[in-house]
Amino acid sequence: MRVGVNVPNFGPGTNPDSLARWAEVVEGLGFDLLMVSDHLAVTSDVAEQYPAPFYEPFTTLAWLAGITTRITLGTTVLIVPYRHPLLIARMAANLHQLSGGRLILGVGTGWARQEFEALGVPFQRRGELTDDHIRAVRAAWDNDADYRCGQIPIWVGGNSDVALRRAVRLGAAWHPLRFTMPWFRDAVDRLRAIAAELQLPVPDLAPRIVLRLAEKPIDHPERRAGEGTIGQILDDIEQLSLLGAGTVLLDPYNGDPNETLRPEAAWQALATVAAHRAWPTPYRDGIAVTLDNHDLPGSDVDRAAAFSEADLQHLRRCVELATEAVDAGDWPFGSVLVDADGKVLAEERNRESTTGDATRHPEFELARWAATNLSPEERATATVYTSGEHCPMCAAAHGWVGLGRIVYVSSSEQAQGWLAEMGVTASPPVRPLSIRDVVPDLEVAGPVPELAGQVRALHRRFRTGTSAAN
Ligand SMILES: [Zn+2]
Repeated sequence: MRVGVNVPNFGPGTNPDSLARWAEVVEGLGFDLLMVSDHLAVTSDVAEQYPAPFYEPFTTLAWLAGITTRITLGTTVLIVPYRHPLLIARMAANLHQLSGGRLILGVGTGWARQEFEALGVPFQRRGELTDDHIRAVRAAWDNDADYRCGQIPIWVGGNSDVALRRAVRLGAAWHPLRFTMPWFRDAVDRLRAIAAELQLPVPDLAPRIVLRLAEKPIDHPERRAGEGTIGQILDDIEQLSLLGAGTVLLDPYNGDPNETLRPEAAWQALATVAAHRAWPTPYRDGIAVTLDNHDLPGSDVDRAAAFSEADLQHLRRCVELATEAVDAGDWPFGSVLVDADGKVLAEERNRESTTGDATRHPEFELARWAATNLSPEERATATVYTSGEHCPMCAAAHGWVGLGRIVYVSSSEQAQGWLAEMGVTASPPVRPLSIRDVVPDLEVAGPVPELAGQVRALHRRFRTGTSAAN
């Protein structure tokens, strides 16, 4: 999956120097995409949300193309009715070519009535103009001798059903903005239904979510995707990926124009996401270099603070054990007990089906093994790695025995979601509590997005195998 950043190109703190630093940070952290927004007249309705100065997107991106090397550039979103389609076609084509093919054109219909008036564009006709202009832009690009850009990807922005239809008819991707996960799930279903009705392919999903990093989990039902602890945010990104999103754009702007005067807070949130993501190797060095240069305050970009290579190695072993369990007809869970020096003491996998004993969870077995074989001190400094978050029974055993840290690949909530996707709705006989509900002071880390997809695949294989056996 590609992850990008919506960089603020407006507000009191925005100037050529800040834009250049934003580009350097975003590219240096290894993000794949940098996008800016569009306004042409900062009328009072625009200024309420996006105060002056406002940097025009084509001009700004052309300049940023010259001071970046690899990052994809784009608009989120270009307001289509504001410019003549031939001007859009030409500026986009030239920018695409000048940047070495790095442009994505996110488009929308616009909302600021006064800005439409200032530009002499009829507000009521904005939907129809958007459709006509997109068709005209695409037709212009067909003239390769002149425009020399081929068909630049167009992402159709907007959350309304009209936008969904437009995305299916005219877009390479659908680009919804700022939403809750339940809303997104429903909207993807509607998008698929519209594509089926129109007998057209389902466009790619390229959502833009907020990035609002919090110390404590946010639990209320209106929580938007991208809000909460780093664990919640990474889980949202993982869920979006599982729902088919090929790209996710993070929007760190939270609505206060003064944020543009101190972008370090947004950079730190981005650095935290970058540190927890599995990047292709070349960009890992880039992270350290960028952060040294800018000396971000209190950054936890130190990988040891997240999941170390040793953590990931033990977690991969857990996934192997979970695979062995599924091969044997058992539930897809595996766990490893590791001492303070990183030495593996014991490992176990689920054996519920093969023994007919529903308490044969690997974490429970490891807790009992530790009670027999380890001193209290050894237990307190040991770590249990596991493919799926402990159930309440195993968490309680872990707590009673006095074991140390838990690191899990996928959360119970994720597993429930996956089972629901597969049509399994039966509720377990024991209420699903989080580990910290059972053992309040325990150090717990997870989920690990780069491995969670493998566990999901195992759940799918287990369910398919079970139903085949039945
Ligand atoms: Zn258990």
